[in-house]
Amino acid sequence: MSYKGITTKLVHADRKLNKPANGAVHYPTSNSVLFEYEDVQDLVDVFQGKQVGHVYSRSSTASNAALQTILNNMEQGVGAVTFATGMAAISSTLLALLRAGDHIIVSQFLFGNTRSFIETLSQFGVEVSLVDVTDVQAVEREVKNNTRAVYVETIANPVTQVADLGAIGQLCANSGLLFLVDNTMTPSLVFDAKGVQASITMTSLTKYVAGHGNVLGGVIVDTGLFDWSHYPNILPMYQKGEPSQWGLTQIRKRGLRDLGATLPPQSAHQISIGLETMAMRIQRVCENALRLATYLHSHDAVEQVYYPGLSDHPQHFIAREMFNGTYGGIFSIVLRDDIDAHRFLNQLSLVICATHLGDTRTLALPVASTIFYENTPEERAKMGIHDNMIRFSVGIEDIEDIVSDFEHAFAHFI
Ligand SMILES: *Cc1c(COP(=O)(O)O)cnc(C)c1O
Repeated sequence: MSYKGITTKLVHADRKLNKPANGAVHYPTSNSVLFEYEDVQDLVDVFQGKQVGHVYSRSSTASNAALQTILNNMEQGVGAVTFATGMAAISSTLLALLRAGDHIIVSQFLFGNTRSFIETLSQFGVEVSLVDVTDVQAVEREVKNNTRAVYVETIANPVTQVADLGAIGQLCANSGLLFLVDNTMTPSLVFDAKGVQASITMTSLTKYVAGHGNVLGGVIVDTGLFDWSHYPNILPMYQKGEPSQWGLTQIRKRGLRDLGATLPPQSAHQISIGLETMAMRIQRVCENALRLATYLHSHDAVEQVYYPGLSDHPQHFIAREMFNGTYGGIFSIVLRDDIDAHRFLNQLSLVICATHLGDTRTLALPVASTIFYENTPEERAKMGIHDNMIRFSVGIEDIEDIVSDFEHAFAHFI
């Protein structure tokens, strides 16, 4: 497609890229688990990877393939694999690519469930270093002979640390390491994963991509920048054809097929509908977040605001450059000592108290007692998480209404 605008591309993506039959503008969903071949040789050829097709819907379906085509096109990658959830994408990919005895460097500011999964990985003999990734030298110091990958997120949740991904990408390129980037917070229209030399992007489609809090999904995209012919863990049976596809093949077989976290066809369709308005929603969310964070930053009742869009954020300039002048839709605040966070949250009426992000609606959550409840106070301190911290995921509502909801809530305290 030669259209320049991302919304133009996304609104027409199914029709242009997947070419559904009968002039339909959406690719149809199919519920079939099994697929019939007239000639058994064709079935054999699909099994052996000599012919493209589907044999069993846990491994692949036309509905998933259609969504993968759109997501891969969006990232300009060499292939995508969709999963039932973001966590399924992350866990299946890491299990498919790592072995006992390998070492992985991960951000110490990871999304809580990813961090919990990484702990599980370490129980199976994968060595893990949790590192302050905002310090590139700290990442470099951890690289060893058995290091296979560096895993980071574009904007950390909830304290919004932003690593210099360009510098880490260069380090990975120099050292032959896989560079795994979770870009859930900054989908491809605001973040160029190839520009920072990411090897694989991992995205929770549940968040900004689908966007409406009504469907779960995850995807990984191989950017094509990593040389799989030098990666020691690709099984001989998957070292066939173009090396650019070796990693994806192993993720499809050992990850998706064997672990079985398949995206339902109806979900694939719903996600593709969410995609059509993603650019407009993110633009609005980023504008709203900057305005709300700025308002709270100057408010007497607020001690601290953590948002990359504020000039006092330690990585403000890196964020501005990396995210195309935007700063995402998530920020966290710490209220003045004498204001109880729970009581304050109960006074908000438009803003919803819920654990989710990337929704059309503005959401709030006290993080220490919920999503980081399983972590020790020391671990939380290392992540920069304050006991009274509240995280917001800003929605697409009219900003005046969100601000006035806050004003009403603050009025109970000051
Ligand atoms: C939500 C989230 C995930 C997990 O995605 P699910 O679809 O909820 O499984 C992974 N990474 C980040 C950064 C997230 O915010």
